[in-house]
Amino acid sequence: MDALPESPLSLWLDTYGPYQPEPPLTGEHRADIAVIGAGFAGLTTAYELKRADPSLQVAVLEARTVGYGASGRNGSFAMTVVGLGFGTTALIHGKEFLKAAHTYMERAVDTLDELIQREHLDCDRIRPGFLRVATTPAYVRRLQHDVELMASLGFSGIEWIDAGQTRSMVNSECYLGAIWEPRLLLVNPARLVRAEKQLACRYGVRVYENSPVTSIERRGQFILKTPQGVLKADKIAFTVNAYSHLFPELRRRQIPAFTYMVATEPLTGEQLAPIGWEGQQGVEDARNLIHYYRITPDRRLVMGGGPVGLTFANNLHADSSEKAWRHLEEHIHFLFPHLKGIRITHRWGGPFSVTTSLTPELGYLHDKQAVYSLGCIGHGVSMSHLNAQVLRDLLLERQSDLLDCPFIHHRFIPWPPEPLRIAAAVALRTYLQIEDAWYERGLKV
Ligand SMILES: Cc1cc2nc3c(=O)[nH]c(=O)nc-3n(C[C@H](O)[C@H](O)[C@H](O)COP(=O)(O)OP(=O)(O)OC[C@H]3O[C@@H](n4cnc5c(N)ncnc54)[C@H](O)[C@@H]3O)c2cc1C
Repeated sequence: MDALPESPLSLWLDTYGPYQPEPPLTGEHRADIAVIGAGFAGLTTAYELKRADPSLQVAVLEARTVGYGASGRNGSFAMTVVGLGFGTTALIHGKEFLKAAHTYMERAVDTLDELIQREHLDCDRIRPGFLRVATTPAYVRRLQHDVELMASLGFSGIEWIDAGQTRSMVNSECYLGAIWEPRLLLVNPARLVRAEKQLACRYGVRVYENSPVTSIERRGQFILKTPQGVLKADKIAFTVNAYSHLFPELRRRQIPAFTYMVATEPLTGEQLAPIGWEGQQGVEDARNLIHYYRITPDRRLVMGGGPVGLTFANNLHADSSEKAWRHLEEHIHFLFPHLKGIRITHRWGGPFSVTTSLTPELGYLHDKQAVYSLGCIGHGVSMSHLNAQVLRDLLLERQSDLLDCPFIHHRFIPWPPEPLRIAAAVALRTYLQIEDAWYERGLKV
């Protein structure tokens, strides 16, 4: 199995302070359930299992240290968005699917919020509300259509606000209006995922870091091998998200695509004053290849998105992109021209998981002894926490309303083998870029 690449540290990991990893797996051990991958999904699946049945022996194996994956690198938005947004999801999968998906995602945001508060997870959580801003008249039409669509499905709490209202929260001359949705959490993701490790350990989960699973055999039990140890387990959960293709069982269910981020030095009061942003709202734009940005508690502007990276044969060595980072810096200047010349202190990136359906997928593999969760399409912060409860119910084979989850796929369309795979992925990205360019005609972004 491929070694995972070194990656530039995210702002969140770089500023975390001293971190003590758990020792690797050595020798032979046994567990009732083994969880592979210690991101949000893996750690909270393990926690939920122990919470449901304290007598279960649960072990988590992490290839690197907790936070290495997307959970330690993301934009920090715990939001209701799924796939490519409301309109596109309805177009591809139908309104009933969108309704079920959005209901699930609202619950996902609330589930994460409850978890943070119930367990006192120290992660700089705020609930500041979400702006999806329109920067062209065509985007105004797209977003207003989305608001009407969601209202027609019976959802409240997603409203259109005009340019004045938008700019009274976050002021850029580029904003022509926005969707306002109060249901958004912003967190420090590295602190969250590492607090979740401590929580899982407190509940009796055994977490092994620097323990990549290099092979899995099935001889009655599952036999998981790592460089220094062996773990035997009755059931397993794959929570490796954008790394899932490294496992033969999941090879064609998803591909990794790469998104990039930058963080500025802390803004001075003078630099922040023209923008306002007292409410610290999370902001995304209306593109397919979105820009997402926020202001941190220490007043750094953190921006991600824009260009998306794809690689041949699912090569994982694409966590850095000078081109994408330059684009993001230019976009900061485009939105807030007075910040031209501001120092960028952190540049990073990482893979998110994409399925052919452009929706998340979770469920059983082969039989009821193995489960998986993947395909969060860059929107997994809230979702991975509710997915963990779904995985818990699948593993414990217990009835629950969560098993109506719209993302439990019994059939899937596999990604084709190379070179068709890269051709299909590039064609999809090109289509999304052309549509963005069409919506932005005449605009220099
Ligand atoms: C730059 C970036 C920005 C993002 N921004 C947002 C955002 O603002 N909002 C949002 O909702 N989503 C965002 N996402 C997506 C979100 O972060 C993910 O969907 C979510 O963190 C996935 O959590 P996870 O636990 O499923 O996967 P991960 O956090 O990726 O965890 C998987 C773990 O599996 C481990 N692993 C891999 N192979 C093995 C092996 N062989 N053995 C053992 N362990 C293994 C990895 O090391 C990793 O730690 C972003 C993603 C990226 C990359």
